[in-house]
Amino acid sequence: MKIGVLALQGDVREHIQSLSDCGVDARAVKTKSEIEEISALVIPGGESTTIAKLARSFDLFDLIQSRIKSGMPTYGSCAGMILLSDNVKDAIEGQETFGGIDMVVRRNAFGRQVDSFETDLKFKGITDPAIRAVFIRAPWVESVGSSVEVLAEVIDESGTKHPVAVRSGNLLATSFHPELTGDNRVHKFFVENICRQLASSKG
Ligand code: GLN
Repeated sequence: MKIGVLALQGDVREHIQSLSDCGVDARAVKTKSEIEEISALVIPGGESTTIAKLARSFDLFDLIQSRIKSGMPTYGSCAGMILLSDNVKDAIEGQETFGGIDMVVRRNAFGRQVDSFETDLKFKGITDPAIRAVFIRAPWVESVGSSVEVLAEVIDESGTKHPVAVRSGNLLATSFHPELTGDNRVHKFFVENICRQLASSKG
C-alpha cells in the first residue's frame, strides 16, 4: 500500500519515518501524478494557510479535495487537522480547507502563553500506555457533527473538554504531533483501522 505525505510544507520527513515504521510504502507527494498514485494521504503539521496556498499555486487543491471526498483515507496532524475541517475559527481572511470532517476547529486555540506543551492522553482504540501528545500552536475542536467520533480530549483550566483527536469515516485528525515522539501507534491506528480495512473491504 502506497501512502503519500503531502510535501508542500511542514514536518514531512517525520511522518514518512512513522509510516515506514508501520511497514507501509510511504513517500513524499507534491505533484498531481504522485497524488493520483497513492491509496492514502497524510497531511503534516506546519502552517495550514501556507499548505492551502501552495496546494492552490501548484494546482493540487481540487485533486486533493476530490480524492478526499471520494473516500481516500486521509490523516491530518495539527495544520493537517485544520485542512480536513469543514469550518475554521480564527482563520485568516479567505483561508481555504480541503474539508471532509463535519466539525469546527479553532486555530491556535491553546493561546499564546501555552504555545507548546505536552501531556498524556487516553486515545480510544489505542491501549495503554497513554499517548504522549505534543501540541505546537495547535487547534482544538469546538464542535462536531453526528458523523464524527471523538477519540481523545483535553480539559482546559475551566474544566471544559475539547476534542483533540477525531475520526469521521476514512478521515482521521489529531491536534497534536505523534510523528514527533517516536511512538507510531497513532500512525498504526490509521494504517490498520482505516487504510487496511478499506483495502480488504474492497477485496
Ligand atoms: N497554527 C498552525 C496553523 O494554523 C498549526 C501549527 C502546527 O501544525 N504545528 O496551521
